[in-house]
Amino acid sequence: RAKANPGTYRFFEHAMDRELKQTLRLQRDLHAAIASGAIVPFYQPLVRLSDGQVAGFEVLARWNHPIRGHIAPDAFIPVAEEAGLIGQLTTLILRQACLDASKWPQHLKLSVNLSPVQLKDTSLPDQIFRTLRSAGFPTQRLEVEITESGLVNDVNTAKTILSTFRTSGIDVALDDFGTGYSSLQNLRSFPVTKLKIDKSFVRAMKTDPQSKSLVVGILAMSRSLGILTTAEGIEEASEGVWLQSIGCDYGQGYCYAKPMRGDEVPAYLGGAKAA
Ligand code: C2E
Ligand code: CA
Ligand code: CA
Ligand code: CA
Repeated sequence: RAKANPGTYRFFEHAMDRELKQTLRLQRDLHAAIASGAIVPFYQPLVRLSDGQVAGFEVLARWNHPIRGHIAPDAFIPVAEEAGLIGQLTTLILRQACLDASKWPQHLKLSVNLSPVQLKDTSLPDQIFRTLRSAGFPTQRLEVEITESGLVNDVNTAKTILSTFRTSGIDVALDDFGTGYSSLQNLRSFPVTKLKIDKSFVRAMKTDPQSKSLVVGILAMSRSLGILTTAEGIEEASEGVWLQSIGCDYGQGYCYAKPMRGDEVPAYLGGAKAA
């Protein structure tokens, strides 16, 4: 083994130490944030492309940080997963979302993201049911969004969990479709009701013919399997029009609305109806 330069070694030791400390601080802050309810749901509409009506909202977590403002989920969801806090975080977000959505028209659905690590835990459905029950929110109004990475680790557990959801009237959407572990097999072997085409394809359609072909192919395949489709990341109205013309059911993206606070939803719905 090469003898390390003691100065370099100490440098790395300090860098690692710093990183570890930072991670631990973040975990501790997150723990406190969950306990105090500082993780809040934002909502982004899912729009039916055939008539432009809002069909529901996706729940997107935000950390309302006293100094750093609204922190995006990519910065803290992985921390929550690692620290074993993702179950508590989901319960907190879901409870608040159910309370908010109880004030919206009944036909509007709620789509909640579940982390891949949660699909390894068979107590997940009970956790969700308990939260719905205590908020008086019907299972039929809930949809869960899962990514394919959650299906590959423990296939049987994931299958059991999703089947339990489906039996209780909860829809299952396969998120970020086309990225990562994507396999057409998943559509056959898991009880999936909807597929969300990843925004990277939608964003690339304009400039990349291959992405466009993939979107066309995914939509044709979904239709033949009887699976509904949502395209995410729609930023231009023309993209929504084209997607609708080739059979996409729902759209989501900045073109319709950015994720908003719960108290902004009623005004948004009022405006959307008038439009
Ligand atoms: P996702 O589930 O794929 O959510 C869609 C992301 O795309 C959201 O980012 C949304 O704000 C963003 N987006 C929506 N429309 C557009 C658009 O037109 N253009 C572009 N460029 N982006 C758009 P966000 O809110 O930062 O969330 C990032 C990811 O964090 C989510 O990706 C999801 O995987 C995860 N996440 C968010 N909330 C939760 C949660 O409560 N639980 C779990 N487990 N994961 C969550
Ligand atoms: Ca999602
Ligand atoms: Ca997605
Ligand atoms: Ca994503």
